[in-house]
Amino acid sequence: MTSFKEFTEVCKTIESISSSLEMTAVVASFFRRVSESDELVGSATELSIVPRFIMGRIFPEWSALELGVGPALLYESISKASGLSVRHIKQLIRETGDVGEAAKIALERSKRSGAKSRTQTTFLDFSTMDGGTGGAESGEKSEREGVLTISDVFERMTSIANASGKGSQQTKTRHLQFLFNTSSPTESGYLARIVLEELRIGVGEGIVRNAIAEAFAEDVDAVERAYMLINDLGEVAVLASRHDLGGVTIILGRPIKMMLAQIGGFGDLTEAYAVEWKFDGTRVQIHKDGEDVRIFSRRLEDVTSSLPDIVKLVKSQITADRVILDGEVVAVGPEGKPLPFQEIMRRFRRKYDVSAMVEKIPLYLNLFDIMYLDSAPLIDLALHERRRRLDAIVESGERITVAEQVVTDDPMTAQTAYQAALDAGHEGIMLKALDSVYSPGKRGKNWLKIKPIMETLDLVVVGADWGEGRRANLIGSYLLACYDPETSEFLEIGRVGTGITDEQLAELTNLFSQYVISEDGGAIELKPAVVFEIAYEEIQRSTHYASGYALRFPRLVRVRFDKTAEDADSVERVERLAGG
Ligand code: AMP
Repeated sequence: MTSFKEFTEVCKTIESISSSLEMTAVVASFFRRVSESDELVGSATELSIVPRFIMGRIFPEWSALELGVGPALLYESISKASGLSVRHIKQLIRETGDVGEAAKIALERSKRSGAKSRTQTTFLDFSTMDGGTGGAESGEKSEREGVLTISDVFERMTSIANASGKGSQQTKTRHLQFLFNTSSPTESGYLARIVLEELRIGVGEGIVRNAIAEAFAEDVDAVERAYMLINDLGEVAVLASRHDLGGVTIILGRPIKMMLAQIGGFGDLTEAYAVEWKFDGTRVQIHKDGEDVRIFSRRLEDVTSSLPDIVKLVKSQITADRVILDGEVVAVGPEGKPLPFQEIMRRFRRKYDVSAMVEKIPLYLNLFDIMYLDSAPLIDLALHERRRRLDAIVESGERITVAEQVVTDDPMTAQTAYQAALDAGHEGIMLKALDSVYSPGKRGKNWLKIKPIMETLDLVVVGADWGEGRRANLIGSYLLACYDPETSEFLEIGRVGTGITDEQLAELTNLFSQYVISEDGGAIELKPAVVFEIAYEEIQRSTHYASGYALRFPRLVRVRFDKTAEDADSVERVERLAGG
């Protein structure tokens, strides 16, 4: 067993290193140490947990488990464990800019001030809950350092994730309070960051993948491939430690990473390729195992319960017994044109009253790939081979089709198909190399997407929100508005928080400090002065914002220092671009 303390020491070491090679070496040697003293605790071995923890993740990506702890619940737990008020905790976060540092300081202070209230309440709270182990939980922090093991932390987090229904918030707070009370201030700091999945010590998938390879003398490509197929670096580490990567294969019921497309042009593919319509809907990966059908979203979340109509279609019109399919679900309006993406998302997010929604927003399934058939993975077959197999197992009907393909090597033919796709209300086209294999998780040249480029909008910033967690002392998102020259009003149209690096965030926070009109909680009202150039995927009608429009996936391109607030784009231009 490995202590959580050892994990935090590794984190600290990594934070002091900037070279990713060195980081990889530290992570690799940690993985090796964990594997040497590994054993099964509860449902997992520690070696399956640490690759995720070190990236600030808790559960495997494919797992339906979610911690379900937001900043408010975390602050409350830190408050209870430290005896400091939630306001005080927030103040500390503001001062340090890091929830981990704030948690550490809070628990240090409580320790210095005797921690009476903390240990006493903890004793009372947990003597019942943890089978009377309260005695071990009282006492000073220093005695507790190194008490928690990595498995303890994971087991508690699993209990937190499983807490549901009435009283679940209280249960979650108690588990968290227990963790904070059983760890040293330093450990508490890292715990807080993991809880918000914001460890941010600079270790991402690439480093973990390389570290697994280095730790167990395995080939990086083998590690990568295993990851793409089983979707959990924790499990991959365990397999690598047993030199079992060669046997890794697709598991029916477990989502594999989706193959992705790159933006391309008509002349980019020289060999023969397939042209397909690019449907404007939502990606789905369908796993059918006899009567058991599971549907996963692009983010590999299980969305089966929101899509009973698609499940039914698959059961009745896919003749294969055991199969994994790739496709796009679209909603079609009364005139036969695809409905906007937001309509489909309403279906995906639906947890209750699903059947009413099924009537209201009928969905259609366009299948374009097959990755597994009758216990055999097909991802290493060429596209045209996979396509043949796909055609053979789909009984196409009104609601389910195999995406039509035009096979060509002539850019003119592709352009004609492109125009036809746009005329039919689709997003554009996909060009797919006919000989290409299915590469899970890869955005490569074998799938190219061609769609019209959206014009950007110049919008004025009229408000902002403070960030959370590590970004608590930075502005995290900006409220944008267009201009109405007739009334001289600025009309809100959406928020932007992506496309901004940490460095830019700091600069912008600084820039906007001079325009603050008022602050209310985390919300800031700003004098309209700064213009952002914003890119987006789509403009949608919306009753949420005063302009009557909202942007889908807005992203900051640059600050237009050359423009004044009144130079921002008019609501008329927004209307025109929205096509209305
Ligand atoms: P993008 O989301 O712009 O990166 O474009 C790639 C996405 O287009 C895929 O993830 C699918 O959701 C979607 N898509 C629509 N039609 C197709 C198709 N025929 N083949 C592959 N992807 C498609």
